[in-house]
Amino acid sequence: MHELGITRNIVAIVGDAAGGRRVRRVHLDVGELSGVMPDAIAFCFEAVARGTMLEGAALEIRKIEGRARCDSCALELVTQTLFTACSCGSRCLTRLQGEELNIKSMELEEEVA
Ligand SMILES: [Zn+2]
Repeated sequence: MHELGITRNIVAIVGDAAGGRRVRRVHLDVGELSGVMPDAIAFCFEAVARGTMLEGAALEIRKIEGRARCDSCALELVTQTLFTACSCGSRCLTRLQGEELNIKSMELEEEVA
């Protein structure tokens, strides 16, 4: 399952960025055309985070809808896959958004003075 590797990367990146502070919450943007299953990341996250600065952190995933433009008629459509046809019958679609896999932000615990 490649979401496991992705989740490990996310935990590693956030852990580095946290600079030794505990992480309370992580916000992710996941595009519907990214090929990544948000549920699978959520499933892996708790186990991967265990023993790191992210242990017990909340993971919030925002899904970015997939958008594409038809190369034939320039219609923009919302789609969860590029393997679909435009209403004009063309299957030549250019993706506009939805491939994102971004760590948008994170919340850290207050530094102990
Ligand atoms: Zn079209």
